[in-house]
Amino acid sequence: MEFSKIQELLAGEPKYRLTQVNQAVFGELTEDWNTVTGLPKALREKLQSECPLDIPSEVSVSLDKDTVKALLKLSDGKYIETVLMRHEDGRNTVCVSSMVGCPMKCAFCATGEMGLMRKLTADEIITQVLFFARLLKKENERVGSVVFMGMGEPFLNYDNVMKAVRVMNSPEGFGIGARHISISTCGIFDGIKKLSEEDLALNLAISLHASNDEVREKLMPVAHGYAIKELLVVIDEYIAKTKRKVMFEYLMINGVNDADEMAEELAGLLKKKLCVVNLIQYNDTGSFTASSHNRINRFKEILEKNGVSATMRYRFGRDIKGACGQLATGRN
Ligand code: SAH
Repeated sequence: MEFSKIQELLAGEPKYRLTQVNQAVFGELTEDWNTVTGLPKALREKLQSECPLDIPSEVSVSLDKDTVKALLKLSDGKYIETVLMRHEDGRNTVCVSSMVGCPMKCAFCATGEMGLMRKLTADEIITQVLFFARLLKKENERVGSVVFMGMGEPFLNYDNVMKAVRVMNSPEGFGIGARHISISTCGIFDGIKKLSEEDLALNLAISLHASNDEVREKLMPVAHGYAIKELLVVIDEYIAKTKRKVMFEYLMINGVNDADEMAEELAGLLKKKLCVVNLIQYNDTGSFTASSHNRINRFKEILEKNGVSATMRYRFGRDIKGACGQLATGRN
């Protein structure tokens, strides 16, 4: 979907046409310009031929129906994946990609193995939300929240990500509250700083995954240029400026980063910070094994005993390879 092209096409039209079109595309979630009868026929035909509303896709649904993964075909023939998570309490979260592939090469993540093919445009990011908004509408439901935890590093595509976020957030777009939009980063300092200056109260999640640089460097090549100590200084500045709680994501990998001492070490780093640690069980990508439930519970206990709050992430969609770190498209 090329929303910017729609705007170009409407440039010569009266202003209210754009309002009508936004209402049709984002409000009514129409999939066919011919149904937008408030527009003159000639304009509808022009839109139909130059900005078609269809989103080429292939959908897989997990056995428990909680996760829907969509493979979307982009206009240059590349593919991305996007995931819908349906929570027990009825909330629907869309996990969006910000790139085709990813340059970060984290050892535990399937997307990293693809390398970076290209960054997504704002339109391509918005289309992922639109795709699931349409699907949910058929069941009288809506997208409640969006997380940038799909393929790619959002802070290496900052401008397009923020452009897309503004459409998600705006009342003329999807009207999703800023507090329901989360950006997850491997810790790009520049992006964290820029985010703290935005006038939007988005959630920030940091993929930490280790309690010291030695282990982090083994898992995440980005750690070589970005030491944990320096990262935490940047986070402190972010918290001081925004007064918002930061989430640290911590993948639990058997025998690599899940020892008791590491929980103590992590607690030492995060004590007294306005933050929460989200412990995530490693989803298999062929490189490691996951920590046991007992291990994760023990790790969580140690953090809490030391005054650091912690949660465990519920896993979605492993049977369709739609879980964190499993997104990769062999199609590209
Ligand atoms: N590049 C961004 C966003 C994409 S990853 C980032 O690094 O945060 C989204 C989350 O999924 C991150 O916390 C990432 O570390 C986690 N993840 C990656 N591979 C995983 C795996 N195999 N199992 C579970 N979580 C994984």
